[in-house]
Amino acid sequence: MTDDFEVVIGLEIHVQLDTATKMFCSCSTDYEDSEPNTHTCPVCLGLPGSLPVVNERAVEYAVRVGKALDCDVRDETRFHRKNYYYPDLPKNFQISQYDAPINEDGELVVSVEGEDHEIGIRRAHMEEDPGSLMHKGGSIERSNYTLVDYNRSGTPLLEIVTEPDVRSPDEARAVVETLREILEYLDVYDASRSGALRVDANVSISQDGEEGNRTEVKNIGSTKGVVRALRYEVTRQKNRLKRGGDVTQETRHYDDDRGVTVTLREKEEEKDYRYFEEADIPVIRTTEFKDDVHVPELPRERRARFEDEYGVSDEVAEKLTSRKAVADFYEEVAASVDAELAATWVADELLRELNYRDADVDEVEADEFAALVSLVADDELTDANAVDALRAALDEGRPPVGIVEERDLRKAGEDETVEATRAAIDENPDAVEDYLGGDNEAINFLVGQVMQKTGGSADPATVNEVLREELDGQES
Ligand code: ADP
Ligand code: MG
Ligand code: ZN
Repeated sequence: MTDDFEVVIGLEIHVQLDTATKMFCSCSTDYEDSEPNTHTCPVCLGLPGSLPVVNERAVEYAVRVGKALDCDVRDETRFHRKNYYYPDLPKNFQISQYDAPINEDGELVVSVEGEDHEIGIRRAHMEEDPGSLMHKGGSIERSNYTLVDYNRSGTPLLEIVTEPDVRSPDEARAVVETLREILEYLDVYDASRSGALRVDANVSISQDGEEGNRTEVKNIGSTKGVVRALRYEVTRQKNRLKRGGDVTQETRHYDDDRGVTVTLREKEEEKDYRYFEEADIPVIRTTEFKDDVHVPELPRERRARFEDEYGVSDEVAEKLTSRKAVADFYEEVAASVDAELAATWVADELLRELNYRDADVDEVEADEFAALVSLVADDELTDANAVDALRAALDEGRPPVGIVEERDLRKAGEDETVEATRAAIDENPDAVEDYLGGDNEAINFLVGQVMQKTGGSADPATVNEVLREELDGQES
């Protein structure tokens, strides 16, 4: 036995499509703050005699994602019933797709440590979300009883299935994050919603080229969870193999609190689901509309364009484009001030301050932010004071330039600077003496004094210059 292990990962990523109503009925999908079981009807409760009607918008969104992932969009697509019993599934089957999924054979390019990797997309099919279970008194393993809420039942889902092309937990993170960015750009997905993206992670280890058994870790709710679950699973499987043991093919559950995966059940096979055609829904012919489904500029393209058009670095372009709202904001700012300066101010200062406050870019007006940056560009405001004004603006929800005026933060004029410098010299004879005695450090103290007197509005370089002029004059 050798240690020649290769990690093999394939992801099944379930995304809630952000439509106003559910996949097969007209119940609202906007239920997050509602009482349980208030957004339901005979269709999404699976009552006898009720009939599903396909949500046209959800199909359009599915095509949009398919095109963005370079999939073949099938001319004719149909639904199947996937039969299983679970309390969150009132019909005892989930309407899903089987042998004629809407999207097939796509590709996702992800960048890992600056290198591009191509991940095959096997399929991206439509289905419905089940209801949600609340395990009372602890986790799924420890709870005493479980409540069910059918508000989520029937929410449109797109399940995106990758080929087993992913080679590490970090690459899996890149796949999920890249996909999330694309979905946001496509405007088909609401990231603020809890559970809007859930991942089943399949992982196996091949040893000396021989494929190992795979486990499937179900229902991971966050990117961080995907990475942690996969790291745990890779280590667990490797340890078993190293000890000469075997990995059991099974379905596992990820316990987010403990950061471990635990056995849930033996892995079910396709035949267990008794798939059969959903006869209540006609075949959908996408040829009638798929050419009209528009895919906007995607993050990778926008990144390249930013580097080209605005002359920003790879790294800055990445920061600016990873969220569509930030990229839109930046372009608005760059329309009125120097693009490179704007890039630094958005990518570094603004994002840092927003991040710190857990705030969103839509809380800032682009034109107001541009006005602040243009004061810096025109040399009327120091960087430090601009940051102070920005912080106060974010904290108080006001335009930053208003704060600049109110606190008199504009750069001190020549006269004010000279006056403050002379005062600092008069008031600090010891520091002056030290400087004249050859202690160059003493000048920093004096610069600090001038900055204090001008309320930080003097330009440090100018102060330095004026100080030297004044002091060198005294020397002679
Ligand atoms: P199933 O229908 O049993 O869930 P699929 O063949 O449809 O299996 O694959 C489901 C997921 O498992 C896909 O994301 C695929 O990439 C992944 N997968 C397939 N083979 C492996 C493997 N050997 N190791 C890890 N993941 C795999
Ligand atoms: Mg599967
Ligand atoms: Zn309904």
